[in-house]
Amino acid sequence: MKLTNNRYYLDLNATSPLADSVKEYLARGEFVFANPSSGHSEGKIAKRLIMDTSDYLYGLFNFSETDFKLFYHSGATEAINSIAKGFAFAHDMGNFFYFGTDHSAVRNQKEQLEKLNCLVHELPVNPDGSFDEALIIEKINGQSGPKLVNFTWVNNETGAVHLLESIFRVKEATGAIIHVDAVQSVGKIADWEKLHSGLDAYTYSGHKFGTLKNVGFTFMREGLPIQSMIKGGGQQSGLRSGTENAMGVATLMLALIELKETFNPEELLKAKSAFEAKLVDALKDKGEVVAYTNANRGLNTLNFILYDTKSQTLATALDLGGIDISTGSACASGTVTPSPVLMSMGYSEQLSKSAIRLSFHYQFNLSQVDEYWNAFSRILTRFLQF
Ligand code: PLP
Repeated sequence: MKLTNNRYYLDLNATSPLADSVKEYLARGEFVFANPSSGHSEGKIAKRLIMDTSDYLYGLFNFSETDFKLFYHSGATEAINSIAKGFAFAHDMGNFFYFGTDHSAVRNQKEQLEKLNCLVHELPVNPDGSFDEALIIEKINGQSGPKLVNFTWVNNETGAVHLLESIFRVKEATGAIIHVDAVQSVGKIADWEKLHSGLDAYTYSGHKFGTLKNVGFTFMREGLPIQSMIKGGGQQSGLRSGTENAMGVATLMLALIELKETFNPEELLKAKSAFEAKLVDALKDKGEVVAYTNANRGLNTLNFILYDTKSQTLATALDLGGIDISTGSACASGTVTPSPVLMSMGYSEQLSKSAIRLSFHYQFNLSQVDEYWNAFSRILTRFLQF
């Protein structure tokens, strides 16, 4: 995506620019301010925005209101914390399972969950980011008591996809409650709106597909033994108290309508594959694409390792060259720490410090590949000369 300041923004998995429909909505200046719980006319306008969005979301994802409750929140970090801790609160000695490739909003709860008397288990992934169904079932069935498993549908760092059909087979074989982190599915796989109604909860975050920040939603099966962690005025049927962000919620519908109308998965796949082929050709034996052999990868994510080069070094050069990308490794006080996601896939510490993630906008298309590649390879080439 080329920004108005002429920079190339290849970091869609971190966050998305505002959708055009959202910008137009804001520019119109119809600022809805009232509290949706207020009984007066202004309050009803705010309430209507939320109800219209909810109707749209139930229709889009083909879920029934009797089977699934829908609630809005400030984004996936809040929702994932709320669900995991809400499960721990509701059960003494429950089991929470997650993968080492899951987002830090999942992984970093371990200590707190353990303080809530919850047993926390990390499940293994294959080197290409997929999971071994039989092994996962065995690990989950090896524990007794109530169980909650987090699956990331589309991985934010590698693009590896965990298929919903396969996740459902894990559910059938274990009886565990399944939460799907669906944050990176929208506009990044072909069938992003085809949910599996046999799974128990799905979480989304609007800023990944063009809304204002700090608004997201979760579908949760009716009657799940998970307590709400956000207590207060009992809004949203007590699932998440607090005054709703009606305007933010309205931008969810606007951005999704726009995406549904304009997203062309085949075109995105062609463009990403063409870019990837050029990259593989340029890297030769000096690097590799992460999860390259995985048959189930998202359409927009390209994570690669450049051997012997710290990702921060290449990231800085790309930044100076006008290209925004991301590294999975964190840099604190001059020390680069390796990407925990790549480490859990079996990459060495050194290689896990050398990965660069490119993530393309859902409207990336073949006509842009050469321009993007030329801008990108001008900088990459400097690192391939040694
Ligand atoms: N889960 C995944 C897979 C993500 O990519 C992200 C954001 O990067 C999150 C959760 C957290 O989302 P939010 O920024 O809405 O808190």
